[in-house]
Amino acid sequence: VRSDVSLGIGDDAALLDVPAEHQLVTTTDVLIADVHFHSSATPHSIGHKALAVNLSDLAAMGATPAWATLGMIIPDIDERWLEKFCDGFFYLAKLYDIDLVGGDTARGPLMVAIQLMGWVPRGAALKRSGARSGDHIYITGTLGDAGLALMHLKGLRDLLPDQAATVRQRLDYPCPRVELGIQLRSLASAAIDVSDGFVADLRHLLRCSAVGAEIYLDELPISKVYQSLYGEIGWEPALTSGDDYELCFTAAPDRDDEISTLTELFDIPITRVGTVTIGSDIVFFDREGQQHSPKHTGYDHFGV
Ligand SMILES: [Mg+2]
Repeated sequence: VRSDVSLGIGDDAALLDVPAEHQLVTTTDVLIADVHFHSSATPHSIGHKALAVNLSDLAAMGATPAWATLGMIIPDIDERWLEKFCDGFFYLAKLYDIDLVGGDTARGPLMVAIQLMGWVPRGAALKRSGARSGDHIYITGTLGDAGLALMHLKGLRDLLPDQAATVRQRLDYPCPRVELGIQLRSLASAAIDVSDGFVADLRHLLRCSAVGAEIYLDELPISKVYQSLYGEIGWEPALTSGDDYELCFTAAPDRDDEISTLTELFDIPITRVGTVTIGSDIVFFDREGQQHSPKHTGYDHFGV
């Protein structure tokens, strides 16, 4: 049990101590069966992902995660399902030293709602609103693999068994960039996590900062599996498919060296993919300097 939990599960509510001179950061996500996770997703992966997507939001704020509450609606009291879910949830919770400080369950169609709380030094939180013209735009990890997994699940894309397994892992077990987010507090000018698709989330950041961007398509970070399919699928999934849970952030050009050292420190690729501009548009360029516009810019989860 964390020492900052004065009173955890067992009373009417929890009592939590936010460190002095810090701010509480809180986020919540609701996951619904067949909308936010596929019917073939294992309970273990659902437990992981439900917490991971919240961790990703805190990472995008530069917050240190600390406490969670868990609300669940489950169809039947299926002990084995619940056990596997908890294995997935608590494995990740333990990794980030998160205490579960409250929760509730009810019977009904499967739904998981987590509230995750953490803290940042007062005034140090990363926001979507700090990007300035001339800042560089960066992406952690790679884009589009979870989208490829979804396309495969929907029968829209054939993949070799090992390719399918690799991208399915990215869909079911996203890696929230928590430690990196904490380091970015003093480096990034703005940040957002990529949950709805790179372009859609970049748009949110740009709107909040009242700026535009140019994006260099040939710099977009993609996995080996994606690279092998690039000839057929192009840039579209990397730009628009969701569920990547990477960080998109901006930083002043003179922070570039410090950002490179983070790549080594955490062994996570951090790729510069563009530049913040004045205005409000996103303009895409290929290697030849040719301009492009993507067909879609949103993400519909499992919707049709
Ligand atoms: Mg987010």
